[in-house]
Amino acid sequence: MSFSSRVPTEVLNSSTSIVAYFSMEIAVRPDMPTYSGGLGVLAGDTLRSASDLGLPLAAVTLAHRQGYFKQHLDADGNQTEEAQPWSPEALCAAEDATTVVMIEGRPVTIRAWRHDMKGVTGKIVPIYFLDTDVDQNDPADRILTDRLYGGDSNYRLRQEAVLGIGGAYILRALGYEPVVYHMNEGHAALLTVALLEQQLGERGLLSATEQDYRKVHERCVFTTHTPVPAGHDRFSMEQAYRILGDERSSLLERVGGVHEGLLNMTYVALRFSRFVNGVAMQHGKVSREMFPDYAIDAITNGVHAGTWTSQPFQGLFDKHLPRWRQDNVTLRYAIDIPEVEIEQAHSQAKQTLVDAVAQRTGVRLDTETFTMGFARRAATYKRADLLFTDPQRLIEMAHKFGGMQIIYSGKAHPADDPGKAKIKHVIELAKELNSDALRIVYLENYEWELGALLTGGVDVWLNTPKRPYEASGTSGMKAALNGVPSLSILDGWWIEGWIEGVTGWAIDDHDDETGESNSLYEHLEQVVLPLYYEQPQQWRRIMRSSIALNGSFFNTQRMIEQYVLNAYFPEKRVIGAPVESLEAVMSR
Ligand SMILES: *Cc1c(COP(=O)(O)O)cnc(C)c1O
Repeated sequence: MSFSSRVPTEVLNSSTSIVAYFSMEIAVRPDMPTYSGGLGVLAGDTLRSASDLGLPLAAVTLAHRQGYFKQHLDADGNQTEEAQPWSPEALCAAEDATTVVMIEGRPVTIRAWRHDMKGVTGKIVPIYFLDTDVDQNDPADRILTDRLYGGDSNYRLRQEAVLGIGGAYILRALGYEPVVYHMNEGHAALLTVALLEQQLGERGLLSATEQDYRKVHERCVFTTHTPVPAGHDRFSMEQAYRILGDERSSLLERVGGVHEGLLNMTYVALRFSRFVNGVAMQHGKVSREMFPDYAIDAITNGVHAGTWTSQPFQGLFDKHLPRWRQDNVTLRYAIDIPEVEIEQAHSQAKQTLVDAVAQRTGVRLDTETFTMGFARRAATYKRADLLFTDPQRLIEMAHKFGGMQIIYSGKAHPADDPGKAKIKHVIELAKELNSDALRIVYLENYEWELGALLTGGVDVWLNTPKRPYEASGTSGMKAALNGVPSLSILDGWWIEGWIEGVTGWAIDDHDDETGESNSLYEHLEQVVLPLYYEQPQQWRRIMRSSIALNGSFFNTQRMIEQYVLNAYFPEKRVIGAPVESLEAVMSR
């Protein structure tokens, strides 16, 4: 093996696709609008690292033919949304296999489009996009795989039936016999019901015994992604019975998938999974408090290093650390790269960002001026406006140190009015505060390419979520790969990635927003701005240690290796693996 992977070679060498990875959204390519934000980017990065390692894995998601929306912002900061249709026909291969799932009393035919994700060594992870837009379906069902997080909760539950139940059946129809099913968030939890049906064969669901249930339990792995209660999918029992039917619904009741009178997809997934994890150490702890009856582990998220490293740093790593793409641990040795080369690579990335901002907005930012980035979903807990708690203080520090530029971006979910209000607030403040010393721009339509430009090109990455609602966060990890330190609230991944003055800075914990914004200002005034403008050599060292310490760890290669070792194949064997040929492979 040419790379230092900790993944068992038996797993790497297996030719059968044995892990089935289910996710409602996957960011496969920049030109496929099949993701909304962090969850989809994580899924895509996971698959990219899986294909780099040659892991036997196949993924299932929905086609989302209308794409996630494109954001438009008017001069006053009002968001409007436009569909972004894409053609699976143009970017995927058609599969012949189909399956039929009863949804709301109607048979819904589901077909699949395959897209192969190719890793650095040429290995492939197939991704199946499920599609209900077929002639024989009722017009109401043909649109079920059109819109990601669109429509009402009836639409969502029908989509989850397509993803979970349809996905499990179509994998069988395609010839797969997965031994591990990984549910990336609760959206795919209904796959467990399909697995139980497959286990029972001709017998009805309600004849399931403890032993049948265990057979499913032994194959399921579940990752929960949010400590925000509204982030956990819930449906009324009326909806469940109407959409999923009597048998499946009463089975879900029987196994404990109903919580406080509602069908709760997190509980369904928890009940059926032998391994459950949160996405950062702190999130594991918070999840154990939310679900005290379950043993919940933690595997901290990462990002795909090759994808989120800017061109100039890719060139630098290729020169100094030639194996970094196959073996991300190599990035640890970025600590030996001369500081001046780090600085040059960053300047190039910053220039690219400044040019892109000019092209998109007509505003020409200055490449020598301290520039901070803040881009993420405009959910209220992310507090995009915390930096503006005391605008006067911001203006004063910009004047005192010789300038400050702040670049914002982020979409609010179409139904999230408070999130939209946050965007409007930031845009209004930007207009009000803009001066020669303080430049604030809000870039519309935050997506993959803009995310890469921003995390690669700014000088500091800012994150100000309300604790403990940031499960992990991954944009700061992208920044670290590009030598961009974070200034952040101690939540999610930053609790683990933070070394004060070495990889960035922590905003002190306070119970009130004023205390936190005060700490944010103090850090900027007393530490960050003086360092940037007065101690360039020390600044370059921080850039370099961000790469060496955080880039080498917070990547999806390390992450998926942890999934393999702890979740998929603990002790190098598949617990209760029902597939003989696989057992033969594993015991070699
Ligand atoms: C990385 C990324 C995210 C997730 O970043 P967070 O830090 O979790 O907000 C969301 N959207 C896009 C477009 C990204 O590239």
